Amino acid sequence: MSKGTKVPGYMQGKGSRNPRGIIGDREIRYKCSLQNTILDVLRGRPGWQEVPGQNNIQPNVNQANPKQAGSGSTTQGTTSGYKGSVRNPQGPGTQSAVPTRLQGFQSIPPITRNSDGDWDFYWCDREWLAQNYDTMFLYEHQKILHFRNHYELTRKNLMVKNLKRLKKQTERELGKAEGQSFEFFPTTYELPSEYHIFVEEFKKNPGIIWIMKPAARAQGRGIFLFRRLKDITDWKKGEYQPLSDPNREVPETYVVQRYIENPYLIGGRKFDVRVYVLVVSYNPLKVWLYRSGFARFSNTRFSLDSIEDTYVHLTNVAIQKNAPDYDPDKGCKWSTQQLRKYLSAKHGVEAVKKAFKGIDNIIIKSLQSVQKIIINDKHCFEMYGYDVLFDSDLKPWLIEINASPSLTASGKEDYDLKFGLLNDLLNVLDLENRLTGKEKRVGGWDLLWEDGPILADDGNMECAPNGTTASIPNSFLGCHNERKRQLRELYTAAQSIKKS
Ligand code: ADP
Repeated sequence: MSKGTKVPGYMQGKGSRNPRGIIGDREIRYKCSLQNTILDVLRGRPGWQEVPGQNNIQPNVNQANPKQAGSGSTTQGTTSGYKGSVRNPQGPGTQSAVPTRLQGFQSIPPITRNSDGDWDFYWCDREWLAQNYDTMFLYEHQKILHFRNHYELTRKNLMVKNLKRLKKQTERELGKAEGQSFEFFPTTYELPSEYHIFVEEFKKNPGIIWIMKPAARAQGRGIFLFRRLKDITDWKKGEYQPLSDPNREVPETYVVQRYIENPYLIGGRKFDVRVYVLVVSYNPLKVWLYRSGFARFSNTRFSLDSIEDTYVHLTNVAIQKNAPDYDPDKGCKWSTQQLRKYLSAKHGVEAVKKAFKGIDNIIIKSLQSVQKIIINDKHCFEMYGYDVLFDSDLKPWLIEINASPSLTASGKEDYDLKFGLLNDLLNVLDLENRLTGKEKRVGGWDLLWEDGPILADDGNMECAPNGTTASIPNSFLGCHNERKRQLRELYTAAQSIKKS
């Protein structure tokens, strides 16, 4: 099918939007601030058309009354009838976290609307959103990547702070035993603010290894391991503080975290698992989990003898690809399917099921920990990359959550994974309005949570232990992902449901 043509099942509610606020009878216009797999996916999508323009576009501050906004835009005619919404992202009766700028919003004089505002879908970067969100107007149907304050979950110090708070609240309300379900993140303190509490904890556990990580950096930058308090005196003196910004006046925030000294090893090597999670709403919380992902291995055999060797201890691809014996053809990845199969053969299906259920728990608890804080906005969605590490008992630990997981492919297999992942993400968002809205599975994405746990449909027993008849959670991380066949069947079924 050529570009600009309509997609099958696309003309629902001819010439207008259907009740879900979805675009009707025209092409879908997108913007994208990245030059990698996501752009390929968007460009290859039938019926989608790129909006020309730079990433650093002006916010749509003129759109308080879109009908009055000057035209000059080729698409004004198609969208002027849409009912838009001014940012009150929390919904009526709730206080927005961006009140000051909004108070003056209505009085901002209208300026001529330009074509930059004429998009339906925007894969923007976090910086763009931070700069523009507070003054931006969005039409009913527009979808944009990232929630405004995604950093509540993705900055290492804030993630732990939010988790600790929900853990305490759970213990208070439901008892200590329930609080144990939060024991999936290593003991962590924020530095410098919690330095003294950390020192107390440090003294209670002599000899253990700690890991220091800058709270807001990524790709293993600025990370080091230590055993002695003396080893962080340099940090205290300020040596590590200004690396990211020489003009900083305040010390850079770090987290100090208990190092997991007994990681699960395969072939003597440590690995962590990248898990993709899609949140389409925080209120109610609606979460999808992608079946495929990968395990990232370190290149060098694990040992606690050389704690300064980042090639041994940090599994980031950005670090490992610089290792002297790194082989770019072999890479250092396994698919999650390969990993699940390996672990099942070694430990049995039940043990692996339990371990992977632990990952579901990590996902849901972490999202719940920010559910009341994230500025929920029906226009926003987020695709998180969770990093999870198994210890030698197959217990999963949450290492961190990324709001911009790398979409640059490291090889053919990685490209296929990311291409399918992103295509299916667009299938879940369903701007084309091809689905019924009741689906539990779309391509490789399974609906994990919608204001409560989702159970798998009868018959969907993949990865379930033999002979199981009881309902199982709709969670299939590392299970078979025949996404294309599933999509074909799904669209055929959805079409016949809609017709009837
Ligand atoms: P970054 O955002 O810089 O990637 P991470 O927190 O993801 O920082 O840590 C980088 C890598 O260091 C992880 O992929 C993991 O291999 C290792 N790592 C981080 N924290 C721990 C920990 N507490 N125990 C064991 N390994 C860890």
